[in-house]
Amino acid sequence: MTDAEFDRQHLWHPYSNVTNPGPAHMVARADGVRLTLADGRQMIDAMSSWWCAIHGYGHPVLVRALTDQAQAMSHVMFGGLTHAPAVDLGRRLLTIAPRGLQRIFYCDSGSVAVEIALKMAVQYQVARGRPGRTGFATIRGGYHGDTWKAMSVCDPVTGMHHLFSTALSPQHFATRPPVRYGDQWTDDEAQNGIGDLRGVLEQNAGQIAALILEPVVQGAGGMYFYHPRYLDHARALCDAHDILLIFDEIATGFGRTGRLFATDHTGVLPDILCLGKALSGGMMSFAAVMSSDAVARAIGEGEVPVFMHGPTFMANPLACAVSSASLDLLTGTPWQVTVAAMAAQMKHELAPARALPHVADVRVLGAIGVIEMDHPVSADRAHPICHDLGVWLRPFGRNIYCMPPFVTAPDDLSRITAAMVHLAGVL
Ligand code: PMP
Repeated sequence: MTDAEFDRQHLWHPYSNVTNPGPAHMVARADGVRLTLADGRQMIDAMSSWWCAIHGYGHPVLVRALTDQAQAMSHVMFGGLTHAPAVDLGRRLLTIAPRGLQRIFYCDSGSVAVEIALKMAVQYQVARGRPGRTGFATIRGGYHGDTWKAMSVCDPVTGMHHLFSTALSPQHFATRPPVRYGDQWTDDEAQNGIGDLRGVLEQNAGQIAALILEPVVQGAGGMYFYHPRYLDHARALCDAHDILLIFDEIATGFGRTGRLFATDHTGVLPDILCLGKALSGGMMSFAAVMSSDAVARAIGEGEVPVFMHGPTFMANPLACAVSSASLDLLTGTPWQVTVAAMAAQMKHELAPARALPHVADVRVLGAIGVIEMDHPVSADRAHPICHDLGVWLRPFGRNIYCMPPFVTAPDDLSRITAAMVHLAGVL
């Protein structure tokens, strides 16, 4: 049996049918922005491996950080032990994260980070004498991961609520923020969506521990960019009702939207922040939850004064070391200039797609380029076309989108945008 046959017969892929799987390329190597397939063909990776490989693949600094750390200590438990890689990364995160987030919980993946953030919010409310606040508010169109509580705050239509309706905790949904990024903010609460959020929070405050949302960019829920001013109002409403505010920056963190964090578009401070994906430069599965001192202190003064979570691979030294190296790479380069140049180029080169008959919208923010179609597009149909074009794209829903590594050269980016426009014409 060849490797490809074994894969088809035995391995689950994301959101896939294991008995009748869609196509999958066998990747032999990944260097810079290129994936080399087993058949020798190369593809430019426009996806950054689901948005995490911001420095491309095989970056010598990151490889070195990993191999050096592996020789010293690849893993030790974090209960009762600690180590310099965890402390070094923590120092860096405190320097760059939105100020006021002083406490860091390292964990394994984005979904787990969301679980931890939600759990932290509930434990905070219990510690403050409000045990009835075990639910969550969120906005429609969101995506926060595939684990149970995370699924419950994903969009009820595009998420998995239908399939798991009896198993998921019902949560409180406000409408998707209707004012788009770049559009004129209106103070009319019926039009800017704040009226709806206010209603949801006011009516259910006694049951809500926290409001969780992806600031400015909703990723897997539809690549939707909304006005940052919404976040200012959300903050004020949370304060008025003693509801914690959780920002899920797993997709938006580390420069993707043109700011280091999406919350920097407005300066609003969450109580809890989830980071993942690009945190490790895409080298390892790794995530972090940062919280304010107030949240940590309240939990520490509660009846059960310890936070009840502790994964085996918490603060894995390899992941911490490579994350520090990735952050140094990012902050040591003029990434803002790079991302702004990528945005300008994508705006220019994706614009012709607007004239195509089935294109509903074209939008760009930071290093995110989106062509939204007026109908769902099939990733499996795109698959062979992308292979022929030598550009790796994986559309979902109605969106043909790219999130290229920040090291993508302008001519490679042109090939990506050309492939997107081509797909928009044929899918
Ligand atoms: N939150 C957001 C905003 C995400 O985009 C994702 C992943 N696409 C997750 C959470 C879940 O992260 P992971 O896949 O690492 O569990």
